[in-house]
Amino acid sequence: MEVAMVSTRASLLILILSLCSPYKFIQSPMDFGPLNLLPTTTTASSDFGRILFHSPAAVLRPQSSGDISMLLSFLSGSSLSKVTVAARGAGHSIHGLAQALDGIVVEMRSLPAEMEFHRGGEGQVSYADVSGGVMWIELLEQSLKLGLAPRSWTDYLYLTVGGTLSNAGISGQTFKHGPQISNVLQLEVVTGRGEIVKCSPSKDADLFNAVLGGLGQFGIITRARILLQEAPQKVTWVRAFYDDFSIFTRDQELLVSIPDLVDYVEGFIVLNEQSLHSSSIAFPATVDFSPDFGTKNSPKIYYCIEFAVHDYQHKNTNVHHLSQGSRQMRHMVSQLYSVEVSYFDFLNRVRMEEMSLRSVGLWEVHHPWLNMFVPKAGVADFRDLLMDKISPDSFEGLILIYPLRDRWDTNTSVVIPDSGSTDRAMYVVGILRSANPDPEDGCSHHCLQELLLRHRRIADTAGARLGAKQYLGHHPTPSGWHQHFGQRWEQFAERKARFDPLRILGPGQGILPRTQ
Ligand code: FAD
Repeated sequence: MEVAMVSTRASLLILILSLCSPYKFIQSPMDFGPLNLLPTTTTASSDFGRILFHSPAAVLRPQSSGDISMLLSFLSGSSLSKVTVAARGAGHSIHGLAQALDGIVVEMRSLPAEMEFHRGGEGQVSYADVSGGVMWIELLEQSLKLGLAPRSWTDYLYLTVGGTLSNAGISGQTFKHGPQISNVLQLEVVTGRGEIVKCSPSKDADLFNAVLGGLGQFGIITRARILLQEAPQKVTWVRAFYDDFSIFTRDQELLVSIPDLVDYVEGFIVLNEQSLHSSSIAFPATVDFSPDFGTKNSPKIYYCIEFAVHDYQHKNTNVHHLSQGSRQMRHMVSQLYSVEVSYFDFLNRVRMEEMSLRSVGLWEVHHPWLNMFVPKAGVADFRDLLMDKISPDSFEGLILIYPLRDRWDTNTSVVIPDSGSTDRAMYVVGILRSANPDPEDGCSHHCLQELLLRHRRIADTAGARLGAKQYLGHHPTPSGWHQHFGQRWEQFAERKARFDPLRILGPGQGILPRTQ
């Protein structure tokens, strides 16, 4: 064991010297003792956004937390290099956030996909201990076999537990159960110093809070204890259409005010035929809605609320809940559609959209997405700002918009608007735009840069005017990040100095450059 450690340390030293050398000589897998370290791969230098392609010098495929600890202990104890490290989950971020230019990418999917379930008895909680590289779809599949499931989700499930917990993890259940980071009982983290720490709200709470929503800046999540609840058998899934924004948001707020009756609330803007069609792919009801979208100069837009009620067959309450929930809604006449689907199909609905887009070559395209948390008081102004900056007739993709109630623990690292009032409710608006780079009639490099600039202007204006904050965001300069964190900057910098003093982790965000 001693000999293996010495040889691994010597090999890591060679690795670092090679990474520092202008002639990068890692051309083939190297022997780093027990560490599975490879030359760069194309996967490690790309992500869902397809905007940045930063190539690392090497990729670590860890087999255990110990492998990650060994790498980070070595780097944090060596003054030889400026090597950085990024954890990569499923690589579904947008702006190279899981990339490490000339550094090392740790591919979390290589960790053994361990999942251990604990079913609580009467009055006790049920939970799953899962490794950080497990995808939510895998956790769903296994937990359903026990009649259990996590409470809080993201819309798409082919994302890793560590990846979404490093951001927040939000969806239509957030108003009821809080984001995914509010549904975690314990974490195992490898800090930037290489220490392996088990932390929770009662043990090493500061590390626990720092890592949740921490953008991979303080440590790498190798294991998480996720709260589970009884899974419903079916879900009644409802869509209702609106032509008036204020009635649409009023009804959304009505629904989120009755969490005992409703289990999921989202909504989206229907900009054109394409957005109506693509948003209907997974919704298995016949929707008889073909509105007039107006003209290019005078467009008409619509809105759709999507909500769901769980159906626990032994409780048989959903029909009652549904009629109570929808009775007071003021959608367009006859424009409410309802369908019953399995819980699994409901949660996995975006996969169907993915398959459809893949079949026409429109999944692996540029995704200049912009997601913003907007204080409730500013949501109508945000809508106006958005409509000023986009052309409904040519927009490709989806614009999500739905309210989130105040179920956020402000000790975590996630940054939300400071509304300055007692009503901390906010909306999330996701401008999920696709830009096909097809050379014939697609979006060129110049066009992509234009879209990114347009989104930046929206984000800057909404930040300055409405106090909105980017979610899953990107700021091109450290000062942009400083502004993003606002009053929470000192806490961020203090946590970084404590848990990752050499700033080895999370170079993709460009918040604090590596020291030494
Ligand atoms: P990656 O992209 O691999 O990594 C993201 C960040 O987390 C990076 O900074 C990385 O370094 C860090 N990281 C990854 N693993 C770890 C770890 N184990 N420990 C510490 N840091 C780590 N988000 C929502 O909240 N709600 C949604 O409904 C939603 N829907 C989406 C739908 C689609 C189609 C896509 C592509 C994304 C969606 N997202 C959504 C965004 C998604 O949650 C984030 O991009 C998330 O980070 C992706 O997880 P990942 O495993 O791909 O992480």
